[in-house]
Amino acid sequence: MRTDLFASRHIGIKKEDYKHMLQSIGVANLEQLIYETIPDDIRLKQDLQLSPAMSEHEFLNHLEALSNKNKVFKSYIGLGYHESLIPSVIKRNILENPGWYTAYTPYQAEIAQGRLEALLNFQTVVCDLTAMEIANASLLDESTAAAEAMTMLFDVRSRAQKKANILKFFVSEEVLPQTLSLLQTRSTPLGIELVIGNHEEFTFTNDFFGVLLQYPGKYGQVHNFDSFVSKANENDIKVAVAADILSLTLLKPPGEFGVDVVVGTTQRFGIPLGYGGPHAAFFATKEAYKRNIPGRIIGITKDTDGKQALRMALQTREQHIKRDKATSNICTAQVLLAVMAGMYAVYHGPEGLKYIANKIHAAAVTLATNLEQLGYKQLNTSFFDTITIKAESAVIKPLAEQKEINFYYIDANTISISLNESVSVADVETIATIFSEAKENKTIQITSFTDKKEIDQELQRSSTFLENPVFNSYHSETELMRYIKKLERKDLALNHSMISLGSCTMKLNAATQMLPLSSNQWGNVHPFAPVEQAEGYQIVLKELENDLSTITGFAATSLQPNSGAQGEYAGLMAIRAYHESNGDTNRNICIIPASAHGTNPASAVMAGMKVIVSKTDERGNIDVADLEEKVKLHSENLSALMVTYPSTHGVFESSIKQITKLIHDHGGQVYMDGANMNAQVGLTNPATIGADVCHLNLHKTFAIPHGGGGPGVGPICVAKQLVPFLPSNPVIKTGGSKAITAISGAPWGSSLVCLISYSYIKMLGEKGLKQSTITAILNANYIKSRLSSGFDVLYTGEKGRAAHEMIIDCRPFKQNGIEVTDIAKRLMDYGFHAPTVSFPVAGTLMIEPTESESLPELDRFCDAMLSIRQEIEEAYSENKDNVLKNAPHTLEMVTNDNWNFEYSRQKAAFPLDFVKENKFWPSVRRVDDAYGDRNLICSCIPIEAYAEA
Ligand SMILES: *Cc1c(COP(=O)(O)O)cnc(C)c1O
Repeated sequence: MRTDLFASRHIGIKKEDYKHMLQSIGVANLEQLIYETIPDDIRLKQDLQLSPAMSEHEFLNHLEALSNKNKVFKSYIGLGYHESLIPSVIKRNILENPGWYTAYTPYQAEIAQGRLEALLNFQTVVCDLTAMEIANASLLDESTAAAEAMTMLFDVRSRAQKKANILKFFVSEEVLPQTLSLLQTRSTPLGIELVIGNHEEFTFTNDFFGVLLQYPGKYGQVHNFDSFVSKANENDIKVAVAADILSLTLLKPPGEFGVDVVVGTTQRFGIPLGYGGPHAAFFATKEAYKRNIPGRIIGITKDTDGKQALRMALQTREQHIKRDKATSNICTAQVLLAVMAGMYAVYHGPEGLKYIANKIHAAAVTLATNLEQLGYKQLNTSFFDTITIKAESAVIKPLAEQKEINFYYIDANTISISLNESVSVADVETIATIFSEAKENKTIQITSFTDKKEIDQELQRSSTFLENPVFNSYHSETELMRYIKKLERKDLALNHSMISLGSCTMKLNAATQMLPLSSNQWGNVHPFAPVEQAEGYQIVLKELENDLSTITGFAATSLQPNSGAQGEYAGLMAIRAYHESNGDTNRNICIIPASAHGTNPASAVMAGMKVIVSKTDERGNIDVADLEEKVKLHSENLSALMVTYPSTHGVFESSIKQITKLIHDHGGQVYMDGANMNAQVGLTNPATIGADVCHLNLHKTFAIPHGGGGPGVGPICVAKQLVPFLPSNPVIKTGGSKAITAISGAPWGSSLVCLISYSYIKMLGEKGLKQSTITAILNANYIKSRLSSGFDVLYTGEKGRAAHEMIIDCRPFKQNGIEVTDIAKRLMDYGFHAPTVSFPVAGTLMIEPTESESLPELDRFCDAMLSIRQEIEEAYSENKDNVLKNAPHTLEMVTNDNWNFEYSRQKAAFPLDFVKENKFWPSVRRVDDAYGDRNLICSCIPIEAYAEA
């Protein structure tokens, strides 16, 4: 065996295991299994044209060579992105630690208390610094967060405003360009009218429902919004502010002006620039809007024993429940980055953050003073970190680039300079020298920063923040290291056991794929740096786009969408633009099968489409007759069909080509949700089934870790006719010839983590990718056959096979008083994370093992499931305090001197022998969901206050 091939490390099944597994399934060989799984007419006839697999060693050398093609300049460009110093203790113990980065979204709260606490910290940081009442646990980036603010304010218009059809939204001209572009994208389909202008000249007329301001403005001016907000309030115009989180340690927070929403990014809290992302955005608002907030909120509740516990609150399953009525399509967020940013605040504490902010401000004032002494005019009257200088760009630019420095050149005579945490006295001296050289070339000597302030007295912050003990306890490295470990130990991640979450593809996130994220050559490139400086990135991103186009069979790819749901939205917006370019402005009907993921209808509505739900038949497939009827009915206005393939039921529907043809015959486009691409790569592809556009979840199929609920990347791959409409960026040119406006803030979205998917493809090559897909299908069918003695699989293909995942039916156990949740919680006692619960069918579990798991691990999981099946039978006869209802069992519980249950402690905690070898203890008993929603608390507050509530 070639042990240097990455495929042999990535794929968990050994050569000698195949025979046994195939036998158990009842097929002669892999070819037969695949033949019985994937309809023959959609199988690829040729191998994918990809470069040969590199070994891990070769790859690391290759990527290092590419990284050296990036010129890492000092970037003082600002515009929402700033170099920041990631504390090594956070880098090593979180970013580089699979205990954190391989975890899933904390749906199973009892085995996720660690990251839930870290996210509660994040929310507390956001609430405290913005002075708002409630915050969520991250959004995708500042620009999308601003767009979410606009749409939320649109949704919460007063009854009178809705009745009068008030559509205008004012946007300050000082809002970041990428945010403005996103607002344009999002407003158009909803009919919102953007009015852009100077806020000081805004007339508060009642045809506006809301406004967006930037604080400080994009070129650094800090405005006093006090009277603006009062006037807006008087006129029932809601105010959103995009704010720089670090500046709020010194500036009066927007909450104290009385605004309705505050958004922004936490990138400068110790997160690498990464050529655009990933970074965690925040969204904070008033308690009154708690049911309208997009994304996930962490809340405090209690467990069975009344002990404090954390969970995701309220709209946990937002899109799945509300679908086309959902407040937003956001699903995957930026959890890992939110955890890191929150931890940065824990490490520095309020004093440390103030120190950093003061230092940056002092650097900016020092620079401004020196430049003024050189005779330059500085335009900002009140500023935090950014100054605007009147100087000739054409003269300054070459001098700056010679010194490997980037500024932002606003126009021929105006330059913006944004300082950051990394700036030293010497750096300020270098900048001043550049401006001196451009003039009389006086020698500049700066020996220290001034302590003069350039923030108006009334704009300075006087209120305290981050007084909770968590932000005042872990300021030494030893203490923080242990705090991070303490939280990590509460969470079950892939470094403990298989996480068989259907639709989520929790495969290996290889160390070799993750290592480059730590490199400064990749981490420290500003997204708006001139492209010539990012040659390494440009090569990787282009190659990745090409490879993804090859894999999907499409003409082109855009990496800009930073989650799967963003990809859905981007793809639908491209379809919309395509129809419009053909003069088909009436085409606005989107047909979506009932079994679709909830983000599909939510995205369609955001794209201005009307959702028509088509039925599934008793086999779980699209009901072609019903679809045909609906297509004919809406033929004239048909925009698109959204279809997941293989379906969310884990089946390759054989009628797929007939379905895509039907849509095309009626002038529609086919959007394929590519979340299940792990069952396709190398064997079939979206182009072959007749789709026109798909998104891929790089955080599912292409090995980006889930990070506890993000980051993700959701590129869209499109057929020829949609290529012109791929999304653009207002600062750096990208996208098609008739590009739609921005989908996310950065030109190539979350570039840094694209390195992971790039390495995944380059190290597996065509053979390894195909073998991975085949093994994923093998593993799923093996589990299916092993569980068949105890569980019914809900849907299979025509030849009785599952694809890469399967749904097992737990509804029959209801008659024994056992709910699917009881099974999910009991799995924790066996050391396993539950499969996907109640999606796409309520009362079921959807199991997806992936190719990375070994046969012994698959067997342990099956043993656990079958043992639980036995316990369900026992529960039926005893039915008292049974082991399932009481699950999960904590260490505290089973070592308690009082043990009053009818089963033994041994059975509670060590139900099978293998558990003894590798016990995972849930840190709390079952959490009380209803209590948490009734008593919503979403930030760290003193325990006393919690008790009163
Ligand atoms: C995960 C998933 C999505 C949403 O992707 P995100 O990256 O979480 O936004 C959409 N559809 C299906 C079928 C999925 O499994």
